[in-house]
Amino acid sequence: MSYDFRGDRFWRKIPGWNDGSAEEFGDYSWQQRNSVTSLPRVGKVLQHLLSNALAKDIEAGLERTPMNVRMTPYIFSLIDWENAVDDPVRKQFLPLGSQFLEDHPCYMDDSLNEDGDKATPYLIHRYPDKVLFLPITLCPVYCSYCSYCTRSRVVGGSTAVKSKSTYGATHGEWESTFQYIRDNPRIEDVVISGGDAFLLRPAQIKQIGLTLLDIPHIRRIRFATKGIAILPMKILTDEKWMAALELVCQTGQKRIKEVCIHTHFSTENEMTGWTLLAMLELVNRGIRVRNQSVLIRGVNNSFDVMYRTIKKLAYLNIQPYYIYVHDMVPGCEHLRTTVAEACDLSKRLQGSIAGFNTPRMVCDAPGGGGKREVSSYDSYDRTLGISTWSAPSVRGDEIFHYYDPIDQLPEAGQEFWNNREGLEERLAEFKSKGGSAVEPT
Ligand SMILES: *Cc1c(COP(=O)(O)O)cnc(C)c1O
Repeated sequence: MSYDFRGDRFWRKIPGWNDGSAEEFGDYSWQQRNSVTSLPRVGKVLQHLLSNALAKDIEAGLERTPMNVRMTPYIFSLIDWENAVDDPVRKQFLPLGSQFLEDHPCYMDDSLNEDGDKATPYLIHRYPDKVLFLPITLCPVYCSYCSYCTRSRVVGGSTAVKSKSTYGATHGEWESTFQYIRDNPRIEDVVISGGDAFLLRPAQIKQIGLTLLDIPHIRRIRFATKGIAILPMKILTDEKWMAALELVCQTGQKRIKEVCIHTHFSTENEMTGWTLLAMLELVNRGIRVRNQSVLIRGVNNSFDVMYRTIKKLAYLNIQPYYIYVHDMVPGCEHLRTTVAEACDLSKRLQGSIAGFNTPRMVCDAPGGGGKREVSSYDSYDRTLGISTWSAPSVRGDEIFHYYDPIDQLPEAGQEFWNNREGLEERLAEFKSKGGSAVEPT
């Protein structure tokens, strides 16, 4: 396979940046200052490339989305604006009103029940030996029309359809979280997410990293950030931030503790020459990177796209770690796939690449069951698109359900859901039979 990382001045195709130099474009602070955060700004930058029809469609999209718009010029210029409707990068960051589908009747605002597993205001403690620390709610980009981000309910500020209680990075208030971790010797892994760890300041990276590494039972920490995919320049030009990360990393290495980055590429379209340079920098500094993707309809739900994506990640020394079945969050019905499709894709990916570069396909069981191997469901009715899951190490013998997107079901299944009359009773009957098939009425 040949591996190409584009080195052209692709941003010059965007009228607003057609005379931008590589130096300017390659400066992370220029990228952040020039991020595209509103429809008027999209128009200003795109000029004649934005047709009236597309502008109207975006406007309608923004009225329905629970997420605001925020794109770095880097990711904005990677969209093929001549074919924006079908573009996989556009689909991740800019909603079109014409593409929305009605939410599934069983969607949940906090679909993973993170609020239910809160140990402190900033810590989710669901699994016995690993925790999720959310020190910040800011992101350098806002993903997808909304909400393929699990945490769209807190991240990104209030929008037309949703008011949120956001917080920035509140380092003064983390002490009780550190103390909770100190007091729980079973905890060995800490995921530092948010929001996005890219926006933690260097002093915060050091404070969080070194405080956690000082706790003897903490063996591994990960900083979770989409940054490498959407703002690789930061790795190359934010020296203070990189020095802080490297210090934390080296401190860990001296104690046989792992400090690494978990990032989020969806397709190979987000990988360029900048990515290659950023990864060279990280690899040279001894910082391990893994990737967690979300399976998104029309973006990466085909074998060819996913295969090329994981091959290219592996080339870059980024280990493909997880592919998530899309969470059941509002405003994303058109982006979800069925569990059956995820199973088929997983089956084909296995054996196509080294085992350690084979991503695990998982469904994060709605309601707090945690990540489950997609083929490990207890039962699955493909007509109704209802799968049941249990998580013995996390929640005893409790049962969790995932619901496939209705428009992807066979006709009988679509009928079951689209006829809202007595739906609750029919669902209850289905569940009382332990998730075995019932004839649609
Ligand atoms: C994903 C996740 C973790 C980390 O799990 P890994 O399988 O080790 O990646 C920890 N806590 C929560 C709540 C999570 O969602």
